[in-house]
Amino acid sequence: MVQKRHACQSYPHFLHGADYNPEQWLHDKSIWDVDMALMQQANCNEMSVGIFSWAKLEPREGEYDFSFLDEIIEKIHSNGGKVILATPSGARPRWLAEKYPEVLRVGHDGVREHFRGRHNHCYTSPVYREKVGAINRKLAERYGNHPAVVAWHISNEYSGECRCPLCQEAFRNFLREKYDNDIQKLNLAWWTTFWSKTFDSFDQIEAPGKHTENGLHGLNLDWRRFVTHQTKDFILAECAPIRELSPKLPVTINMMFEFYDLNYHQLADAIDIASWDSYPEWHNGDDAVIAQKTAFWHDLYRSLKKRPFLLMESTPSLVNWKSYNKPKKPGMDVLSAMQAVAHGSDSVQYFQWRKSRGSSEKLHGAVVGHDGTGDTRVFRSVQKTGQILKQIDEICGTLTQAKAAIVFDWENMWALDDAQGYANVGKQYMNTCYEYHRVFWEKGIDCDIISPKADLSGYALVVAPMLYMTDEETIENLKQYVAAGGTLYGTYMLGTVNETDLCWLGGMPGGALKEVFGILAEEIDTLYPHEQQHAGMGDREFTLVDYCEVIHAKGARVLAEYADGWYAGMPAATENRYGKGLAVYQACRDREGLKDALLDRLIRDAGIQPNLPCALPHGVTAHSRTDGVHTYIFVENYSDQTVEEVALPGSMTDLLTGENVTSVQLPPYGFGIFRKE
Ligand SMILES: [Zn+2]
Repeated sequence: MVQKRHACQSYPHFLHGADYNPEQWLHDKSIWDVDMALMQQANCNEMSVGIFSWAKLEPREGEYDFSFLDEIIEKIHSNGGKVILATPSGARPRWLAEKYPEVLRVGHDGVREHFRGRHNHCYTSPVYREKVGAINRKLAERYGNHPAVVAWHISNEYSGECRCPLCQEAFRNFLREKYDNDIQKLNLAWWTTFWSKTFDSFDQIEAPGKHTENGLHGLNLDWRRFVTHQTKDFILAECAPIRELSPKLPVTINMMFEFYDLNYHQLADAIDIASWDSYPEWHNGDDAVIAQKTAFWHDLYRSLKKRPFLLMESTPSLVNWKSYNKPKKPGMDVLSAMQAVAHGSDSVQYFQWRKSRGSSEKLHGAVVGHDGTGDTRVFRSVQKTGQILKQIDEICGTLTQAKAAIVFDWENMWALDDAQGYANVGKQYMNTCYEYHRVFWEKGIDCDIISPKADLSGYALVVAPMLYMTDEETIENLKQYVAAGGTLYGTYMLGTVNETDLCWLGGMPGGALKEVFGILAEEIDTLYPHEQQHAGMGDREFTLVDYCEVIHAKGARVLAEYADGWYAGMPAATENRYGKGLAVYQACRDREGLKDALLDRLIRDAGIQPNLPCALPHGVTAHSRTDGVHTYIFVENYSDQTVEEVALPGSMTDLLTGENVTSVQLPPYGFGIFRKE
C-alpha cells in the first residue's frame, strides 16, 4: 500500500519560497520588513537562508555572531514562514583562506588558487573540514530544533576537484584500499603494460591532468570515482554535527542539470531527500523538447530516493549566466513550476527572493526586482503559483509509481567519453538516454531514471541505452531481472568493458549478457555524419545514423534487419526469451521510429498504462502521483498553441475549479490537475 512520504515530515505542505540573502541588506534593515510583507503577498511560506553567510556568521576565526540570522529567522517565523537552513561551506571567508592556504584548491597546472569565487576549497584539507565542522555544530546547536527550520541545505551545488598534495595522497590511499594494497593488481586492472606505464609503487601515482598521465582509462575512471568518493566523504563530515544535534530534520544537497563530474547515484546515500536547481533554456527551440529533457532530471531526482524531492532553485523569470538570457513567456513561469510538482517535487523554490544590487547576480531573475514592489509580471506569476500550491496541497507527499525505468549511469558516461574509438567527436550518451525517455514522455507514461545497480524488481520494462560499461554486479542484476520475468531493452555497445575499463573477453556483450540477449556482437560500423543506413521491420523502414552494430542471432528472434550496407540482411533488432522474461536488443541508432515502434509494442505487452487514454498532441504530456487511495494526474501543454480537447481516464475532479470533468482544454503553456477517486 502506497502511503505519503513528505519531503519535510515536520511540515507536510508544499514549500513555496526562495533563496534569501538578507545579509546583503544589513545596512538598510527596513528592507527586511518590506520583504516580510511581500512574502505574504506572494503566497510564499519558506525561505532558504545562510547559504553564503560565513563571513557574517564568523567574521574572525572562532568569533561567532549569529545576530542577523537570529533576527531574520525570528522574523520569518513570526510571519508564519518556514526556513531551510544552509551550511555556509560553499564560500569561505577571507580570513580562512589567508591563514590556512591549504583550504584553497590546486588546479591541473599544480598552481594553488587565490581567495576568489565560491566552491574554491579542498575537500580533503583537515583544516577546512575542522572549520566547517565547527560552524555547522554552532548552527545545529542554535537552530537544529527551531520550530521554523524544516530541513538542512548542505553547502551549495557541490562541484569541482583539487590536485593538492593532500588530495593526491588521499587518491593514492583510495587506490590502496580498492586494490588491496597490491600494485600488480592495479597494473593489471589499468592495463599499464601498454606503452610501458607499469607502476612499482602506489607512491608513483598522480591524479590525471593536463601535464600528468591521462591515457590510462582505468586511472581516469578511478580519479573520477575518487572525486565523487571524496565529495561524499566531505558531505558526511559536514553532516555529522547536524545529524547528532538535529536528528529529526532531513538533510539535502542541491544538485544540478546534466552535471557531469559527480556520480549523484553515489551521493544519494549521504542525504535524506534529493533537491536540485532547474534552469531550462525555455523558448530556445521547441519547448516540448526542452520540457522533456527537464522532465528526465525531475524523474532522476525523484528516483534517487524513491520519494518526493525538492525543487530547490528555479528562476521566476530569467538567469544571467547563459549565452542569451531570455525571460519565461507568460504561462511558462507557472507551468514549469507545476512540471516539478507533476514529477514528484514537494516544493517550488526560486533563486532568489530579492535581486542583488551589485556583483555577479544583480541581473539574475528574482521574485522581487530592483523596483522593490509586488507590482510586476514576475511577482504576480509567483503569487499565482503559490495560490495553486495551496489549492493542491493534498498532493504534497504523494508518490509516483513508475512501471518503466531508464538506466542512466555516470560511470558509464565517463568511460564512454574517455574511450578512443567509435565517434571521437562525442558518443552522445546523454542525448541517447533522452531519446528513449522521450518515447515515454510523449505517451504520458511515468518513468524512473535509475542506476544499473538499482532494484529492478518493481519495473515491467527497463531500458538500458548504450550501457557500454557493465561490471559483474550489473550483469547479474540485469540477468536476474529478466530471468524473473522483466522486459529488458539493451542497445549497441552493451557490455563492452568491465568496471576498470578492460574489454570483456569471449565476445560481446560481456559475460552472461550474451545468453540473456541470445546474440553475439562482432563489429560496430561508425557512420560518418553524412551517411545513413536503413533497417526494415515488417513493411516499415527506418533511417539509421551514427552506429550500426553487426550482430549474430544466437537463439534470439530477429525483429528488424539491415536493409543496406555490407551487413544488409543481418539483424538490426532482436528479442530473446530468457527465463520468465524478455530481452530486446537494438543494434543500431535510429533517427527516430525504430525505438518508438519497438517500445510501443513492449509497453503494451508489459501492461504499462499511459496516464491518459488517448494519443497526445505534440507538446502535451501527463504525469501522475498517488497516495494509494487517489490518483492525481497533471496534464501539461508545452506548446504555444491551444489544445482543444484531451480526454481524461473517466470522470475526475479538477482541483483548480472543483468541477467534475472528463476532458480538458489547454491554453498555450496551460495545464490541468485532476483527482481520480
Ligand atoms: Zn586538495
